[in-house]
Amino acid sequence: AVSIDGLTKTFGRKRALNGVSLEIPAGEMVALIGASGSGKSTLIRHIAGLERGDAGCIAIHGREIQSAGRLSGEARDMRRSIGVIFQQFNLVDRLPVITNVLVGFLGQINRLRGTLGFFSRNEKHIAMRALHRVGICEQARQRASTLSGGQQQRAAIARALVQGARLMLADEPIASLDPASARRVMEILAGINKEDGMTVVVSLHQVEYARRYCPRTIAMKDGAVVYDGPSVALDTAFLKELYGEASDELI
Ligand code: ATP
Ligand code: MG
Repeated sequence: AVSIDGLTKTFGRKRALNGVSLEIPAGEMVALIGASGSGKSTLIRHIAGLERGDAGCIAIHGREIQSAGRLSGEARDMRRSIGVIFQQFNLVDRLPVITNVLVGFLGQINRLRGTLGFFSRNEKHIAMRALHRVGICEQARQRASTLSGGQQQRAAIARALVQGARLMLADEPIASLDPASARRVMEILAGINKEDGMTVVVSLHQVEYARRYCPRTIAMKDGAVVYDGPSVALDTAFLKELYGEASDELI
């Protein structure tokens, strides 16, 4: 679960987040939409504990990770239970997929062993189970750099699963994928949401995907939440206003 109250963040003179408050109960799958610069990535980075706001507070699974511009001691511990997937650069390119997937699971010393490609039976079992889940078992021993874009996103999801994440934050995970790969990634996210009860927050450029995969949508404009409700109830006039001139390709 994610609980945010009055979160504000200013970069220089730019107010990137302007009093954001929202509640996401555990087990929901929520889309985050809004024009470029509306604050989606900034919000996701705050929830992930990667950024500190100026005011307001954020609690994850009932534990406060920041309040009034101060990170709590829990922030670091909480990161383990949060999987983060970005549009790009999720994996260590030169390392095999299996090593990337196990990164949060192997300790520092074992990580070196993993880098060399040696794994215990248990580690292999855990990694392969997650890779099977996202449908890329066959690529386990390939270098991450040789995966297609969609496969890289799936490997990042597998890594979050292995890490034991209960909250998945995905910042435009399908923005650079073709429609078939995009659907595959969204289906996997929807699958772990339904089957594992994973809470999923995914920012999306195209509203079509929000409608198809996420029961709830939060729309942002100029750092504020301007819609929070069922994705099916998003109306075209509102979306046109939200996206301005870019609206034709996004709605
Ligand atoms: P996009 O759809 O293009 O990814 P976004 O909704 O993710 O946009 P953000 O990246 O959150 O938007 O940016 C919100 C605003 O905050 C923008 O005006 C951006 O320029 C500004 N901003 C974000 N990060 C920084 C930073 N580190 N320094 C200065 N300004 C920043
Ligand atoms: Mg962004």
